[in-house]
Amino acid sequence: MITQEQVDSIKALLLGKKNIVILTHLSPDGDAMGSALGLCNWLGNAKVIVPNRFPDFLSWLPGASDIIVYFDQKQASEKAVSEADLLFCLDFNEPNRIGEAAALFSLAKCHRVLIDHHLHPDEQMADTIISYPEAPATCYLVLELINKLFAPLSTNTATCLYCGLMTDTGNFAFNSNRPELYEMIAELLRAGINKDQIFDAVFNQYSANRMELMGYCLFRKMKIYKNYHTALITLTSSELRRFNFQKGDTEGFVNLPLQIADIRYSVFMREDSDRIKISFRSQGDRPVNVFAHEYFNGGGHLNAAGGESYNTMETTIKTFEDHFRDFFRKD
Ligand code: 5GP
Ligand code: MN
Repeated sequence: MITQEQVDSIKALLLGKKNIVILTHLSPDGDAMGSALGLCNWLGNAKVIVPNRFPDFLSWLPGASDIIVYFDQKQASEKAVSEADLLFCLDFNEPNRIGEAAALFSLAKCHRVLIDHHLHPDEQMADTIISYPEAPATCYLVLELINKLFAPLSTNTATCLYCGLMTDTGNFAFNSNRPELYEMIAELLRAGINKDQIFDAVFNQYSANRMELMGYCLFRKMKIYKNYHTALITLTSSELRRFNFQKGDTEGFVNLPLQIADIRYSVFMREDSDRIKISFRSQGDRPVNVFAHEYFNGGGHLNAAGGESYNTMETTIKTFEDHFRDFFRKD
């Protein structure tokens, strides 16, 4: 995907740079953390800034302990960005995806490079834009770039990049039909990764509370709109408290209803302290990003999008129920 021209420009940009900063999105997921730390490990001299804390199931990633969390370390973040001689923005396409950390942009005096796979990148955000929505993960693009620069791959870099490939494709269950993806996995294995161990570190570390919350969602809280092949799960803050909710506990819940034969759309709403966070998933040629954008100030990919609401849960559900039939297909 990445053109020779883009490779050449990155090569030129990296020459002699000493203060490289890598920025990724709010509530960083496996691809955000994997691509940022993968690039960081590969560069050897960069700093990673994330807007808010990352989940525990990603804290084992090589280099994670050196990450600067903007929310907790504003001054250190501001210093790093204002001294940066090159800024990478990974796995996000517009400033609002990094929340309040977007204030950092005004401090950056250097060239900015965006590497991402979300639709419609904000052209103002970066000077060099490497945006391929057809890429299954940002880690895919970072690895392609490293390969086209003919640079060697350490086990640490490979481990981070594998994490993003694995999580953004649901362990190679979706967005995963490119043969090149499996050539990359072979390459990462040769670089020394232990893919079984990475799977275990990410997907087999749940608390009992989290499993009980999942059971509660499926048994008590899943509403099915049969004619529209749609499922909705909602969780209020008091329900979350009952299961001692920890950040990251509802990760993946939105995908569960898609395991039902007839369900092609799934929506998950979670009441956080400041807003209701909404996730949308779909299968095949059924866009959910358009709907997320239209009614919930969000966006994302065709089959995986997100949004938010500042209304009550009741009103948010009503907004959803009033409009989804105009967007979701009956066939
Ligand atoms: P998730 O449901 O896992 O939070 O998000 C799925 C995808 O939707 C993300 O990869 C991201 O592309 C997009 N997304 C999530 N929340 C938002 C949002 O508030 N605004 C926009 N524009 N995209 C979002
Ligand atoms: Mn991603």
